[in-house]
Amino acid sequence: MKKILLLFFTFLILTTMAYAETVVFNTKTYKYHKPGCQWANKCTVNCIRIEKKDAIKRGGVPCKVCGG
Ligand SMILES: [Zn+2]
Repeated sequence: MKKILLLFFTFLILTTMAYAETVVFNTKTYKYHKPGCQWANKCTVNCIRIEKKDAIKRGGVPCKVCGG
């Protein structure tokens, strides 16, 4: 029973973290990156920092290198 509760809370925390996650969104290619991604660091002109859910809402596609 304890294990199930622990699993549940882990899931809850992970979900909350994913929801508020900030990504680097490329407004030209519509790709979004994790802030630590090498492509995110290279992208300085067209990229903005927004929440992951907003990037998806704008039609964003996760980066193939970092997974978004
Ligand atoms: Zn990336």
